[in-house]
Amino acid sequence: MNNALTIALSKGRIFKETLPLLAAAGIEPVDDPETSRKLILDTNQHDVKLVIIRASDVPTYVGYGAADIGVAGKDVLMEHGGEGLYEPLDLGIARCRLMVAGPVNVTTEKSRLRIATKYVQSTRRYYADRQEQVEIIKLYGSMELAPLVGLADRIVDVVDTGNTLKANGLVPLEHIADISSRLVVNKAAMKMKHARITEFVAHLKTAVAV
Ligand code: AMP
Repeated sequence: MNNALTIALSKGRIFKETLPLLAAAGIEPVDDPETSRKLILDTNQHDVKLVIIRASDVPTYVGYGAADIGVAGKDVLMEHGGEGLYEPLDLGIARCRLMVAGPVNVTTEKSRLRIATKYVQSTRRYYADRQEQVEIIKLYGSMELAPLVGLADRIVDVVDTGNTLKANGLVPLEHIADISSRLVVNKAAMKMKHARITEFVAHLKTAVAV
């Protein structure tokens, strides 16, 4: 029976903060993704591999079963919709907030605000729940620029320290959701490799609780 595990992670903060949790499950990568160009990293366990991909691609790889397990921000999961995925554990890492932000001291009298964001689904849901009509403009990065050049009245983005907003003359206005990284598991893999994945999740749960 194939009991091998493929775990999908993104570089940077999620990788760094997931490492100690993987170590608690006895898994240590052989290479460092910050210095290696490899996209598949071996670990000290011969049948456990890490695939290093864009954060927003993690739910897709795990949803299709190309990876059994992954770590993804709740912001990314809210956009993806979570099809084919279990979300068994909040890892409590890479915490931030999804927020509406805008220029300081600007009161817009417009009936239909323009909102620039890469979080189109979450933004649509947020304003629909409030029964506010808005125009959503999809961007792929540097949302902070949009209000500065007249592309949008507000942005929806994740905020950690707030320094990026402040440096661009923007302030947080409305809180949409608290965000942290979650463990996600492919639904079919959870059935096929049940004992192995359950044990893995249990190790992580213990490490998270410390
Ligand atoms: P900050 O200046 O600390 O508020 O961080 C702002 C920028 O860092 C945001 O625009 C995001 O692009 C990024 N960021 C901060 N924390 C996270 C996180 N937990 N997940 C994803 N992106 C983040």
